[in-house]
Amino acid sequence: MNMEKGTLWLDEPAVHSGVIYRFDTRIQHVESTGTRCLACTRRCLLHERQVGYCSAVVNWRQQLYSTGYGVIGEAGVTPIEQRPVYHYRPGTRTLALGGLGCNLRCAFCQNWEIAFRDVRHGASLTAPNVSPEYAIELALEQRCSGLVWTFNEPSIAPMYVYNSARLAHEAGLYTVFVTNGFLTEQALRLLGPYIDVYRIDIKSLDAHFYRQVAATSANTEMLPLARLAQQEFGIHVETVTNIMPTLNDQDEHLSRLADQIVRYLGPGTPWHLTTYVPYAHMKHIPATPPATILRARDLGLAQGLHFVYTDVLEAPETMHTFCPQCQTLIIERSFDQVLIHELTSDGRCVSCGYDLGIVMTVA
Ligand code: SF4
Repeated sequence: MNMEKGTLWLDEPAVHSGVIYRFDTRIQHVESTGTRCLACTRRCLLHERQVGYCSAVVNWRQQLYSTGYGVIGEAGVTPIEQRPVYHYRPGTRTLALGGLGCNLRCAFCQNWEIAFRDVRHGASLTAPNVSPEYAIELALEQRCSGLVWTFNEPSIAPMYVYNSARLAHEAGLYTVFVTNGFLTEQALRLLGPYIDVYRIDIKSLDAHFYRQVAATSANTEMLPLARLAQQEFGIHVETVTNIMPTLNDQDEHLSRLADQIVRYLGPGTPWHLTTYVPYAHMKHIPATPPATILRARDLGLAQGLHFVYTDVLEAPETMHTFCPQCQTLIIERSFDQVLIHELTSDGRCVSCGYDLGIVMTVA
């Protein structure tokens, strides 16, 4: 491998060394004019030496390689609730990792400093700063129960997720894939056996929204794929929508979105509604009023969802879990505390026995 100023070039791509790592054959397809990347739904067709939209993938002699394997741009030890994930191992600590690059260009991205980076620069590294082995070592050293890929989109780094997830399971850690939902079925089939939680960000159901703020078209595969993750691989799925005034906060849209979650994933699937904070290129959109978030919650409940959570400070009870059958308070949450009350070790309400779908132990 040869580092030119700021750019990684692949004179001799050393497979499994440095920051270069060859793709599994299941997530690439050689075609007459190039090799198609099957990691995310952009499905870039890459000619010789061309990098993908995300800059995290390059074609070298008809084979695809990750360009920033093990290059971590952000890391932290956080409770799983911060992702947000509320129904899987509540109150446990995770090691959260994020690499460079992304397959979307959301104008409001809170993590643009890492997500919009050219991955080939690799933070000027010639070797991974956090290899999968080191990630596991760190997680255990920090007394974490799980490993999370977040901050940027993990589907652009499938081999890193694949290798670290397998090691995580061997070490007894659970794994959480925090995604914008633009993963492909091929990538899910590769990663699925090693992923425990699929936390999907459904920004909108409308093509116009994605065109306007994320430089892409709507992804109709998102919910079917989440269902596949849930039903075929037994992965725990939670959903989140950041409510943005004027862009995705219309009642009709929110009701339709909640209805789709019920239809594809079931009424027990948590839906997290979060407040939009003006940021980056979308500072002209104001912060979401608490009343809008609470109205969205009512719409979600009216569509049949049992667990619709918010981050509205004025309504702290909307962060708690209540039994949908007998209304008992099951889990009480604040921004820095999780108190588990009436929950059995197999995720049922102590009072009435209702199955809440909360995973308390590793299978
Ligand atoms: S992961 Fe990157 S290269 Fe592959 S299809 Fe998505 S944007 Fe294109």
